[in-house]
Amino acid sequence: MDWQGQVAIVTGGSRGIGRCISLAFAERGVTVIACARSLDKLQEVEKEAKQREFAGQIIPMTLDVTDAAGCEKVVEDTAEKHGRLDILVNNAGITRDGLLATMSDDDFDTVIDANLRSAFRLMRSATKHMMRARYGRIINVSSVAGLMGNPGQANYSASKAALVGMTKSAAKELARRKITCNAIAPGFIETDMTDVLPDKVKEGVLPLIPMRRFGIGDEIAEAVCFLASPVASYITGQVLVVDGGLHM
Ligand code: NAP
Repeated sequence: MDWQGQVAIVTGGSRGIGRCISLAFAERGVTVIACARSLDKLQEVEKEAKQREFAGQIIPMTLDVTDAAGCEKVVEDTAEKHGRLDILVNNAGITRDGLLATMSDDDFDTVIDANLRSAFRLMRSATKHMMRARYGRIINVSSVAGLMGNPGQANYSASKAALVGMTKSAAKELARRKITCNAIAPGFIETDMTDVLPDKVKEGVLPLIPMRRFGIGDEIAEAVCFLASPVASYITGQVLVVDGGLHM
């Protein structure tokens, strides 16, 4: 399996799951364009890859994924500078939790924009280059919330379920060009996103997870690496659930 020379774009690469994915790719020799809004956090990830003497590298790129022109520019700049784009991981995501009855239009739209529209725009741009190369790996980070629903997360669950539909449509469109498109559905993973949950919520969830623990970012990153690897050439349109058995 040859990762050497491959180029990946990972959104939300500064923290949590995206940071782990970026480092896992860099460890395998991939050049990773790690995107997020905060440059300082991205530079920490870049430094870590250097300190650990990974074969690949992290290139920090400030990007707000809700900025349409910014998304297109990251893809075009990457293709121009590196001459290829092998892997796209749409990982950046946010929550704006609230009960359906009182959820504002703004909270709904903001989550759809950041979690779904961003992925659509990046896929639209990236696939032009992948189609030309007749190779590509797209991984969209969904969630078990998109498969099972979650109280207080109508906006988030809708965005994550829609990512699954978009993943399958893209998989069907792109298969003949040797581009695969799959989704990952993490369960509860220890990151800033779940850190803010009240202890009562976390304690309520644990008994529902057969493994009786939250996952860690590295466990998601390994699954993403598998789907992104050249050997996963006959897997497309799938949702890989990584959740300690929560949803089955
Ligand atoms: P996190 O720790 O909150 O990190 C989110 C990442 O996304 C950060 O790097 C953040 O960087 C970036 N981001 C957020 N908004 C952005 C924007 N508008 N433009 C560019 N980057 C943006 O979250 P996480 O837990 O690692 O989650 C990563 C993905 O996994 C998300 O899609 C999430 O929905 C999904 N997921 C997480 C869990 C979980 O339990 N943690 C479960 C299922 C699915 P900046 O703030 O610097 O922009």
